[in-house]
Amino acid sequence: MPMPGLIWSVLWPPFLAAVAALLLWSLFGPVVALLLFSVFLLLLLLQHAVNLRALANWLVAPPGAEVPDGSGAWGDVFNVIYQSGRVQSSSQYQLSAALERFQRAAEAMPDGIVMLNEADQIEWCNPVAETQFDISNQRDHLQRITYLVRQAQFTDYLSAHNYAEPLVMKSLRNADLTLSIQLVPFGDRQKMLLSRDITQLERVETMRRDFIANVSHELRTPLTVVGGFLETFEDAEHINMEQSRRHFQLMHDQTRRMQGLVDDLLTLSRLESKQEKMPEEAVDVRALLQTLHKEAQSLSAGRHRLHLELGTECNLLGNERDLRSAFGNLVSNAVRYTPEGGDIVLRWERKGAEARFCVQDSGIGIESQYISRLTERFYRVDRGRSRETGGTGLGLSIVKHILTRHQGRLEISSEPGKGSLFCACFPERRVIE
Ligand code: ADP
Repeated sequence: MPMPGLIWSVLWPPFLAAVAALLLWSLFGPVVALLLFSVFLLLLLLQHAVNLRALANWLVAPPGAEVPDGSGAWGDVFNVIYQSGRVQSSSQYQLSAALERFQRAAEAMPDGIVMLNEADQIEWCNPVAETQFDISNQRDHLQRITYLVRQAQFTDYLSAHNYAEPLVMKSLRNADLTLSIQLVPFGDRQKMLLSRDITQLERVETMRRDFIANVSHELRTPLTVVGGFLETFEDAEHINMEQSRRHFQLMHDQTRRMQGLVDDLLTLSRLESKQEKMPEEAVDVRALLQTLHKEAQSLSAGRHRLHLELGTECNLLGNERDLRSAFGNLVSNAVRYTPEGGDIVLRWERKGAEARFCVQDSGIGIESQYISRLTERFYRVDRGRSRETGGTGLGLSIVKHILTRHQGRLEISSEPGKGSLFCACFPERRVIE
């Protein structure tokens, strides 16, 4: 801060005193003049000493202490110091406010952040990093991170100094947690460690891989069969009519199987596509079940006793095509997994506020440990039986999707050797009285 008149205000009192001493010299002689001049200088020195002391006291006083009353040029000095102090504390305040804002933003980040110094010691970390690495911002301050995250992969990543690719690793403390870790060097050999929970992403990736493997596997078997027969036709001279009819029939079966699989895959993909809005209408469930009953009779071809029980007249608000597909899957499963002579009941009923379509069979049943997995894609209790009867392993997965779209749920109870009960339950808001 400029102090234009300061030098002058310091110099003018002794200067005036010197002029006055010269005058006194000419009037009263040198002794009086020098004596008075010395007294003046002594008083001036005393004034500076008092002000200096006030300055020293003020500088060590806590912030906000009152500005001392400086005499002479000291008043200006105190004022200048006071003003520059105010500017400094205001910029300090702004700086710490900005720092606090940054820290709050870093704390609110959905990813983990750990600031490391050049010795890989923790300088700061946000709450997400605390949970992901089981570290504490306060307790572990300046602890080496490799002492706390004791995983060889992690230590290698840190020491390799090649941070172009993130490190993907399972958390040692929580095996269900998969983390993607990226080190970002900055400033003077400091590092920022960013960690992201990619458990869900990994799960989806595994599901995608499994799905492709399953589809390929499902298609390969019928394709191999058809390919094999086509090869035998190349050698057509040795094939008689009866043989070729049988081969055609088998090829037809396999093609139908592939067709079924592709149809189910397309249905699943349509159901999973969020863009497609489900058109809704009042579905006449009784008429729908009568049709399904007839279809089940033709599928069963007299091997089962089929009963239709229409216990309620209510209808459903939903998508007819989807509901038909879901109910049809439950009915065809009952026919396919019930040995000859068994009973199958299709029941439309109210239970409390809900409406339910239930299919009860006296078939092979399912052991309780498998029930929770039945709606997974391609999950089958007995692969051979499912394939023999034309199953794709996608039926119940489609049923679950359709029910979820109707805010409904699938209830399954079963006893091995005795039979199963599959119920599609719909909430009150879907019921039309
Ligand atoms: P799939 O095409 O194999 O029938 P689903 O998704 O429809 O596929 O059913 C999955 C599995 O659930 C079947 O493979 C079968 O093991 C079992 N399952 C389904 N419905 C029944 C039922 N009514 N009785 C016994 N098991 C059943």
